[in-house]
Amino acid sequence: MALAHTLGFPRIGAHRELKLALESFWRGDSNEAALRDSGRTLRARHWALQADAGMDLVAVGDFAWYDHVLNTLALLGAIPARFKFDPKRLTLSDYFTLARGSKEHFAMEMTKWFDTNYHYLVPEWTPNVCFDGGVDWLFDEIAEARAQNHRAKVVLVGPLTLLYLGKIKSGLTHKLDLLPRIVAGYQNVLKRLQAMGVEWVQIDEPILALDLDTAWRDAFAPTYAALTKAAPPLLLATYFDEVRAHAALLRDLPVAGVHLDLVRGADQLGDFLGDWPQDRVLSVGIVDGRNIWRTDLDAALVKLAPIQIALGDRLWIAPSCSLLHVPVDLAHETKLDAELKSWLAFATQKLDEIAVLKRALNHGTETVQPQFSAARAAVTARQHSPRIHNGLVQKRLAKVSDADAQRGAAFGARIVKQQAKWNLPPFPTTTIGSFPQTSEIRQARAAYKRGDIGHLDYLDKMRDEVRLVVRKQEELGLDVLVHGEPERNDMVEYFGEQLWGYGFTANGWVQSYGSRCVKPPFIYGDVCRPEAMTVSWSQFAQSLTEKPMKGMLTGPVTMLQWSFVRDDQPRETTALQIALALREEVCDLEKAGIGMIQIDEPAFREGLPLKSRHWPHYLDWAVRAFKMCASGVADETQIHTHMCYSEFNDILPWIAAMDADVITIETSRSDMKLLDGFGQFAYPNDIGPGVYDIHSPRVPNREEMARLLKKARGVIADARLWVNPDCGLKTRGWPETCEALSNMVLAARMLRQEL
Ligand code: GLN
Ligand code: ZN
Repeated sequence: MALAHTLGFPRIGAHRELKLALESFWRGDSNEAALRDSGRTLRARHWALQADAGMDLVAVGDFAWYDHVLNTLALLGAIPARFKFDPKRLTLSDYFTLARGSKEHFAMEMTKWFDTNYHYLVPEWTPNVCFDGGVDWLFDEIAEARAQNHRAKVVLVGPLTLLYLGKIKSGLTHKLDLLPRIVAGYQNVLKRLQAMGVEWVQIDEPILALDLDTAWRDAFAPTYAALTKAAPPLLLATYFDEVRAHAALLRDLPVAGVHLDLVRGADQLGDFLGDWPQDRVLSVGIVDGRNIWRTDLDAALVKLAPIQIALGDRLWIAPSCSLLHVPVDLAHETKLDAELKSWLAFATQKLDEIAVLKRALNHGTETVQPQFSAARAAVTARQHSPRIHNGLVQKRLAKVSDADAQRGAAFGARIVKQQAKWNLPPFPTTTIGSFPQTSEIRQARAAYKRGDIGHLDYLDKMRDEVRLVVRKQEELGLDVLVHGEPERNDMVEYFGEQLWGYGFTANGWVQSYGSRCVKPPFIYGDVCRPEAMTVSWSQFAQSLTEKPMKGMLTGPVTMLQWSFVRDDQPRETTALQIALALREEVCDLEKAGIGMIQIDEPAFREGLPLKSRHWPHYLDWAVRAFKMCASGVADETQIHTHMCYSEFNDILPWIAAMDADVITIETSRSDMKLLDGFGQFAYPNDIGPGVYDIHSPRVPNREEMARLLKKARGVIADARLWVNPDCGLKTRGWPETCEALSNMVLAARMLRQEL
C-alpha cells in the first residue's frame, strides 16, 4: 500500500492566527502562556487536517515560533554565543531576541530560503558554538501529537544543510570544521527520538539541489553513516530541483528512504527507480508545493502507476516540498469568482489531492471517481478558458523582434542628449520612489476599500499627499523628483490589479518571515494592459514642479517573481507578456511628458535558478524582458532601474546588458564594497550607489555620507555618479526622512565643491 504524507504544513494559520498571537505578545498585550496556547491550537488543527485528509503520518517539528531554522538551532543549543543566553534555558523572549534583536543585541541576519520568498535566520558559526542540546520544544510537540492519537513523522533540517546555510563569524577556516560536533549534536537528538519510539524522521537536505562542491558532497556518506547508528528510520528529503548528480550517493546512504521533487525535477525519476534498494522507501513529490494550481490527477496517476509497480509498499506520495510556501485554505476565498477558484488548490486542498492519489493507487480509481472527474473538468476548463488565452496578446508576442529590445542609440550618445535636455548638476540627487506611507495614507486606503469614502475623495487625499511630497523634495533641494507612490499598497499588487491576466485572493497569505506574511497575486492568463496605469499620477506630479519627475514602474521580472505564475507556459513567455504591457506604459508616460522613467527590478537577482548552469538562460530572457519595456522611447528619455540586495558581482555582464541609463543599488551597509565589482567590471552607464540605509531609523550625518561618496568616486567616474538612498522610504517616518535627505543633499554639494 502506498503511503501519504506531507513534508510540512503552513504554520501561520488560515487567518494568520500565529501572526496575531505573536504581535500581541510582542506588544505586551498577552503573556507567554497565551502565546503557547495559540501555538498548541494551531498545531492541533494542522495535524487534524492532515490526519482527516488521509495522511498516514502527520508532520511534527515543522512548527516554529518564528522560523524553523532558528528552531533547529534552539533544539541543538547552537544559538549565537554573542547573545550570552543559556541554550538549555532559552525562553521564548530570548528566542525572539535572537530573531528580532534588542537594545543590546542586533538581530541574527535573515536571508531567503533557497529560491523562495521565505526568509530564515542565518546560523552564526564560531569556534565556541555549542551543539550540546537546547530546548525540549520538539519533544513536547511529539508528546502533544501522540496525545492526540497521531502517527508522528518528525521533521528536521539536516545537519549538512544547516551547516551550509550558516555564516562563519570568526575563527573558522571552513564550515565543515564544525561537522564532527554538529553530527554529535544531531546524534543526541536522534537517540532521544529513538528512545521515544518515534517511527520516522524526515531529515531535509535541500542543499543537494544546489551545485555542491566535492567537500560538501563527500561529507554526506560519513555524516549519515554516523547518524543512522542509533536513530529512528530516516527519510532524507530533497526538493526545489532535481538531484540527479547525487543518485548513486543517495542510493548508497544508509537511510531508510529518500524524497524526490518530481515537480521541479520531473525527469529525475529514471535515475533512481532502476536499482532502488529493496529495503528503501522512495517518497515522490507529485503535487506542486510551490504553486497554487489544482493538480492534473490523471497525469499524476499516469506517473505514479509504474512507480507503484516497481516499488509496491515502498512508494510514498507527497507534495514536492513543504506546503509552507502556499496559502492555507482555498475555502476562505469567498470573493474569488467560481471559475478561477475551481482552478486552484491551496495547502488544505493539496492534502486532499495526495489522499485521492493514494486511494486511486491502493484501491483503484473507481473508488475516487467523483474527485477525478472534478479535477479533470477543472483542468480541461482551465486549458480552454477564453480568460487564459487572448488572441491579441498572442499576435503581439509573435511580432516581437530583437530590434524591439534595443534603444535607438548607444548609451554614450544617449547620455549626451539626456544631459543636454536636463542639465543636471554633477552628482545629481534623487530618491528611489516611495515616501513615508503614513498611517493617514493607510487609513484612507482602508476606508476606501471598506466603501466609507468614495473614489474621488480617495484620489483627492492621495493627490494632497503627492503635493506634499513634491513640495518637501523641492525644499530639500533634490534634483530629480518622484511622486512618492502614496496610491500604491504594494509594488506588485498595484500593477497586477490593473492588468488583465492577474488574479487576487482575499486571504491567500504566505509566511515571508516571522509574523510577516505576503499575499502574492496569481497570474492565470495572457497579460495585457487595458489602459494606462500610472500616467495621470505622474502627469499630475510633474505639473507641480519644474524639476524632472521620474515615472515609477515595477519591472517584468519582479512582477513575475513575487506572484504565483502560470504553469502552462514557460516563465519567460509570461515575463515577455508583462514586458509588452509595461512597454506601452513607458511609451504613454513619455507621450505625457515624463522624460525619466524608473523600472524597478528588486527581484532580478532572486530569480536566478538554483543551479548555475541554468543561469545564462534565465539571465538572457530576464534582460530581454527588461529591455523590451525600456526600448520603445527616444534617446532623450532617461530610463532608470533600481535593485536592492545587490550582490551582483557574478552577474554584472547581464546588469550591464540591461542598458538602463541609470541604475540605483543598495550599497551603504556594505560600506560601498558592493560597488567594487562595478568598478572592476568597468560598468559603463550611470550608477547611484545608496549612501544611507533606509532599513534603520538612524540618520547618518553629511560627513558620513560624503565619506561613502568619496569611496564611490574611487570606483566610479564622477560623470557617472548619482546620489540617492539605498531603497524606497515607505517604511520610514517623515522627520527622519527629511533629516536624512537634507544631509544627503548637503553631502552631494560638498562633493561638487571638490570638483
Ligand atoms: N520604487 C520602490 C520604492 O521606492 C522600490 C521598492 C524596492 O526596491 N523594493 O518603494
Ligand atoms: Zn530597493
